[in-house]
Order: sequence, then structure tokens, then C-alpha cells
Amino acid sequence: MTVVTRFPPSPTGMMHIGTARTALFNWLYAKKHGGKMLFRIEDTDRKRHSEEAVTALIEAMRWLELDWDGEIISQFEQSARHAEVAQELLASGKAYKCYCSPEELADMREKAKAEGSNSFYDRRWRERDASEAPEGIDPVIRVKAPLDGSSTVHDAVQGDVTVQNEQLDDFIILRSDGSPTYMLAVVVDDHDMGVSHVIRGDDHLSNTLRQNVIYDALSWERPIYAHVPLILGPDGAKMSKRHGAASVEEYQKMGYLPEAMRNYLLRLGWSHGDDEVISTAQAIEWFDLEHIGKSAARFNFDKLENLNSHYIAEADPGYILAQAAPFYEERHGVELDDLARTRILASAGELQERAKTLLQFVDESVFYAKSVPLSYDEKAQKLVEGAKDKILPALATALGTLEDFTSDHIQAACKGVADALMEGNLGKVAMPLRAALTGTTVSPSIFHAAEILGKDETITRINVALA
Ligand code: GLU
Repeated sequence: MTVVTRFPPSPTGMMHIGTARTALFNWLYAKKHGGKMLFRIEDTDRKRHSEEAVTALIEAMRWLELDWDGEIISQFEQSARHAEVAQELLASGKAYKCYCSPEELADMREKAKAEGSNSFYDRRWRERDASEAPEGIDPVIRVKAPLDGSSTVHDAVQGDVTVQNEQLDDFIILRSDGSPTYMLAVVVDDHDMGVSHVIRGDDHLSNTLRQNVIYDALSWERPIYAHVPLILGPDGAKMSKRHGAASVEEYQKMGYLPEAMRNYLLRLGWSHGDDEVISTAQAIEWFDLEHIGKSAARFNFDKLENLNSHYIAEADPGYILAQAAPFYEERHGVELDDLARTRILASAGELQERAKTLLQFVDESVFYAKSVPLSYDEKAQKLVEGAKDKILPALATALGTLEDFTSDHIQAACKGVADALMEGNLGKVAMPLRAALTGTTVSPSIFHAAEILGKDETITRINVALA
């Protein structure tokens, strides 16, 4: 069987990380089996439709580096086909027109509520003749759900899930205005797109039982289902904004790498023994439905950060700089020129070892891209002020006379200043130097940074601090 999975988000806002994980699982499964993953926008709800949200979903997929096969399909554009299938079901007696008024439906709902029943519609039009149709009411079309017995979904994650059929309403497949319901649209699209595997959140499990009624009524083969438990926040409630970032876009903005995000989302709900660091290539090889966890996983920010550190540290410096480049502008209003790039790359190893996020990488290296006069943060300002008298002038002299302007020699010169002025306390000299060179109090080795800046720039920065 050719594996065809699908990614069918509803465009309602930014991409939730749960949606991203579902996309990843579908993508991995398709890649592993040499199949396809199709992308369908579930845009039938025109009132809530937003083109911006569609764009955000596409951008999130691009950022995550999850590609899809073929054009993006709009569910809304298939409406005529959905209606045609509803008519087919009507013609074959598997569905019927229902002329209930809103008042009648409200009564039935009330009654069902009083009886504590899940289904409410009493199927009053199921066997009635069309000649009894009242004037002036546009009917909806309802599917005939089985009246007795039970229905089972064989789920690749949850195992067999069975309900009593009396729980299944004769639900609506086509509204009175001729528009399809979600329930019908999903089945028709999945069928028409040749979807073999439906991997989605387990909040859709009850929909699945209803959608199978439609598959069966049409004698279409049901897909293989895998319902993935939701992602919970650290406190065990459904992951949402109040837990912190809940969308892919936010993680991108916080300086996470797509490969770290993929690795984290993969492990959140799927396992391969005790492996934590799993490359995408490895994931494609290993991914299966059997090892998707049956219970909901809690989001762990520390674990994600650890993975991000790992991927930042081991990546090619050029790649990290390319990923980080937009943040120099965004956060510091600094555009990188060739000199800045060369300097940052010369320091990249150290910066990468330290950085938990790309933002940290940027914040700790932006001084390479700046030119004098630097702006100092509060702590740096204080350090510079305190060192204007003795330490900075001594440093200007000591470093100005260095022939070999390399990290070791710079450190030795600083030690000389420390011995002369600060009882040998190198930190007391290095800190104001760092403040003068970077405008901050946080950076990788300042001796190495001075070497990378070069003698002229180092002395200039010290002199400007003194001025
Ligand atoms: N559009 C649905 C959602 O965003 C997906 C439905 C499905 O996977 O069948 O939750």
C-alpha cells in the first residue's frame, strides 16, 4: 500500500505546537514509507477564515522544514464535490432530508439533556416521506447511523475503541444552505486524496466514530487511524498560552532551531528506548505508530532548551550565523557587514558552546558588529566609570604596546595591569575591559574577543570609553 498521510489544519491562528507535532508525525511516517504527505487547509468555516492564518501555517511548516507533496488543497473549494456525495447518499437511501425547525431541535436537545443522553436527535425524519415536508423549510441532509449494535475504531495508538451505536446521532452532513459539514468534508477529501493513514489528535476520536459511519455508508475503505494524545503544559492542563509559548512562531522568535524543535516534538509523545537526541534522518528511519505514547505528554521547557543548546553547539558556524542573522537587525538594529560576519565566525565556536538560544548567541556577539561609540548597559556603564581613573588608561598603554596581539599575550598584559593595580586580581581588570569592548558584562573570553576585534579597534574602544 502506498502511504498517503495528510496535514489538514484549520486556519484559525498561529500554528499550535500540537499541530506542529501532528504535522511532524505525518511527515515522518510518509517519509519513512516512501509515501506522500498532503497539505489541506480546512477552510470551510468562512466566518472564521483568515488568509493571514493560512500564511502563518505555511510559514511555520517552512520554518520547521516539513515539506508536503503537491499543491495545497482548499477544502472550501471542494464544496461542490461534498454536496454531490451527500446527494449520492440521499439517492442510495443512506441519508435523508430532515425538515425540523429550530424549535423542534431545541425541544429534542432539552429532552436529551434531561435524560442524560449523548445523542439528541430522535430521527423523526428518518422514515418519513418527502410528501410530508413542511412548506418554507430548507431541509438539512442527515446520514443514517446504525441503530443498534456497536462500532469499533481499530486505532494504531489507542487500540480498539468501541461505542454503542445508539450514541451516534443521525448527524448532519449537508446544511440547509447546501454547505457541507466538517464531518462530511473530511471524509470525502481524505477519500478523494487517497489518504491511507490519518494521524491526528485524540480530540478527534469521537469524530472518527462518526466519520466511519460515512465511510461505511459509501462502502469506502476506512483509513488507518492513529490518534495522538494532546500535549499538556507542565501543570497537566492542556498546553495553552498561559503556560508560555504555545505556537511554533513564538519558539522561532525565541531563537530555537527547527531541528531542536523537531527533535523535541518527536520525543514528546513518541519514544525510541531512552534516546533523547534523535536527528531527523534517524527519526525517519525509526518512526513508527507503535511507539506513540498512549497518554498525554507534558511540555518541558528545560528539555527543549537542552536540545536547542545541543543543536546550536554542534551545528556548522555558518549555518548558525545564517539562522541568527535576522535577530541582529530585529533586536539591535544592526546589519551585519562582512567584517562583522568574519569576527563573529572567528568566535562562533565559543558562542555556540554557551548559547541556549540563537538570541543568546546574538546578544553575546552583537558587539562585534557595532562601531564606536558603543552604548553601555547599566552595569557596564558603572564598570567603565569605575575604571576611568587607572585601569582603562593602564590597559590602553599595556595593550597599545603589544606586538603580538593574540589572546595569550592580551591576557598576560591584563595580568600585568592587575598585578600593578589590583593585587593580581585579573577579574577586576577583565570586567572593565569587557564593558569597554562590548558595552555589556556578558561575553565569551574577553581576551579572545580583543584578539578578534584586533589591536586598533580594541584600543579605539578603550579610548572612547575613556573620553
Ligand atoms: N482541521 C482539523 C484540526 O485542525 C484536523 C482534522 C483532522 O485531522 O482530521 O484540528
